[in-house]
Amino acid sequence: MIFLVVFIFGLAVGSFLNAFIYRLEVRHGFMSNPQGSKDLLRKLFTGRSQCPLCAHTLTWKDLIPLLSFVLLKGKCRYCKKKISFQYPLVELGVGILFLLIFVSSFIHTFELLYLWTIASLLMVIFVYDLKHFIIPDKVLYPAIGLVLLWQTFSSFQIGENLTKLSFLQMLFAGLGAAGFFLAIYLFTKGKAMGFGDVKLVLFMGLFLSWPNILVALGVAFGTGAIVGLALIFLKRKTMRSEVSFGPFLILGTFTALFWGEKLVDFYLLFLGV
Ligand SMILES: [Zn+2]
Repeated sequence: MIFLVVFIFGLAVGSFLNAFIYRLEVRHGFMSNPQGSKDLLRKLFTGRSQCPLCAHTLTWKDLIPLLSFVLLKGKCRYCKKKISFQYPLVELGVGILFLLIFVSSFIHTFELLYLWTIASLLMVIFVYDLKHFIIPDKVLYPAIGLVLLWQTFSSFQIGENLTKLSFLQMLFAGLGAAGFFLAIYLFTKGKAMGFGDVKLVLFMGLFLSWPNILVALGVAFGTGAIVGLALIFLKRKTMRSEVSFGPFLILGTFTALFWGEKLVDFYLLFLGV
């Protein structure tokens, strides 16, 4: 029962994140807002939701996560235009992520809220980078700030020597990974990846620390290479076309968060250490 509550809560947060993404898109000029309002962030909490296509005000019947999309067969009730698959997919994605975080033995309430917040911010970056090749600073900077705050405070709870060590490990992981990506960025003159990726990797190192950052980067490069080659093979992209790397980095981050330790153990076992 509690799992169902958590899942439904995740769906609702996903629905909120979709609205947030839409407002960021209006602000960046990727979408035109039919009502022309510029006061987007305030409206996120106080305004009524509208169809992004016809601006018709939506009622609760149109706003039930997942269910509305299915019942309306993916079309707006008023203008009958197709609603993007982004809406149900993000809702479902956040629902599953929230549930995974909940069951992954993170039992401390604060830790749960912390990880749910990070997961939400990463979901926004995932979608935004995939669609627009931009990692929005407005989302990434709060994530970096939150991680630093969390790591600093949680360090106080462990023994002193351990604290210094884990804090240094975290800094080393963040700065090391970011330095590595900065080198790639400078060496390829920003063609292989953008500066947003450098900042995202800094976040990942601070969040995952050592050695989990290696797991995340390994998964990111591995899946990125497979998907990149598949797209070229299917002639959807050429070698030179732009592909965002952020979604792969985020996929790696979640993999490392949930299964990082197991993967490291497995790897060490493989090496016979
Ligand atoms: Zn509509």
